[in-house]
Amino acid sequence: MSQSHHADVVVLGAGPGGYAAAFRAADLGKKVILIDKGKTLGGVCLNRGCIPSKALLHLARVKSESSEVQNFGLTFPEPEWNLEKVKEWKNKRVVGRLTKGIAALAKARKVEVITGSGVFTSPSTIEVTGDDGVSEVSFEDAIIAVGSHPTKIPSFPEDPRIMNSTTALDLDGIPEELLIIGGGYIGLEMGTIYSALGSNVRVVEFMPHLLPGADPDVVKPLEQRLKKDFKEIRTGTKVQGIVPHDNHLEVTLEGSKGEEKLKVDKVLVAVGRRPNTHGSGFENIGIDIDERGFIKVDAQRQTNVPHIYAIGDITGDPMLAHKATYEGKVAAEVICGEPAAFDVTVIPAVIFTDPEIAWAGLTETQAKEQGIEYDKGVFPWSASGRALALGRTEGFSKALFDKESGKLIGMSIVGTYAGDLIAEAVLAMEMGADAEDISLIIHPHPSLSESVGNAAEIVAGSITDLFAPKR
Ligand code: NAD
Repeated sequence: MSQSHHADVVVLGAGPGGYAAAFRAADLGKKVILIDKGKTLGGVCLNRGCIPSKALLHLARVKSESSEVQNFGLTFPEPEWNLEKVKEWKNKRVVGRLTKGIAALAKARKVEVITGSGVFTSPSTIEVTGDDGVSEVSFEDAIIAVGSHPTKIPSFPEDPRIMNSTTALDLDGIPEELLIIGGGYIGLEMGTIYSALGSNVRVVEFMPHLLPGADPDVVKPLEQRLKKDFKEIRTGTKVQGIVPHDNHLEVTLEGSKGEEKLKVDKVLVAVGRRPNTHGSGFENIGIDIDERGFIKVDAQRQTNVPHIYAIGDITGDPMLAHKATYEGKVAAEVICGEPAAFDVTVIPAVIFTDPEIAWAGLTETQAKEQGIEYDKGVFPWSASGRALALGRTEGFSKALFDKESGKLIGMSIVGTYAGDLIAEAVLAMEMGADAEDISLIIHPHPSLSESVGNAAEIVAGSITDLFAPKR
């Protein structure tokens, strides 16, 4: 044992949930140790997930817009990729700058960072193995924030040409023919990136629709655009197997048309994520874990072991960074004696494709399934001056209001910047706003945000930007 450390609070895992928990606990006066095996802080999201993918999606959007504006009278030469420069920008100037910023924030708060793999050896100690040897950390309270990893399909062979989200973001060679398995968040975001980089992208989705969690009408404008950009989208199809050959991968698909074989250069498997249940010594501390491998927690994010808390992907769906951050603050505040709880009305979801898809609260499908009666306002962006000026009129904003209480219960938006626009609906739902409340807010003109107000005006009966027959 090279060193021993003691902390009031130890946080295992430095993703967006873990570092937020560590910083909040330090700000509330605790001596905090933050442990992560990564060389930089920020976890999957900052290093090899949300942030690098958004950097690349930005370039993909600029590329497609530079071609689309030709129709509006502005012509650019055909864009050319300099992959080395792209990687440098993504790795150093986006990811590197953020992770350095997080390290500086930790230092400023005197949060001690230990780099290495942490394993619980008892309910009050963690052994950390890193490049500098083994150290032991004892603690009063612990917050587990160890995250998740990409789901593997066990029958597939081990082959570097079969990528997951992490290796796909490395941009290690752009395949001519790319097959993406999974038409969810990662499949469609990475498909957008690789298509812009020049790959012929095929997507295979097991379910009958892309993005099974979103309403089909919301997915439609995205699907129409992707059908133009991608070589093929096959729903209701699964991959039976992959056989590696020297020059290609042979993939067997099974769908409604029966079995079919394809030759591709690379495959991206994006079929969900699994909690990192193993390897951190959870068996040594007696915490309750459910059958899917998620740690069971209460509203305070406390496990069955009272001084051990858990947050983020390891505690279950939705596996989203913004949920983890919120939970991290809750756990830290509870440890510090504050009356905090994870008691949110809604957690927004965003797919950063082009157009983006965002929703919060109930989707229309869920409202129907739950037998909830609602009033619906759908504002088409073809009636938005800002959307017209951007040349992006395919979107719409859909608001659902509970028939009985009148409150906003769900909002779905498809369109450019939908991920930013959904924030207003989240606030409205948290504040218990109804259609009149939202319609009486002055939205800036001309902006896409007006479409949220317009959707509410349709239900409130005060819309002037459309002609709606008297209700
Ligand atoms: P996902 O759950 O979004 O999508 C996986 C898709 O794969 C689903 O549509 C599923 O039906 C399909 N699928 C499953 N098994 C299949 C099979 N054998 N063949 C074909 N299709 C199959 O998962 P993901 O895209 O891998 O992303 C993982 C998680 O990462 C997400 O749940 C999300 O929480 C998070 N994430 C979020 C963002 C964001 O917030 N923008 C972006 C990327 C990832």
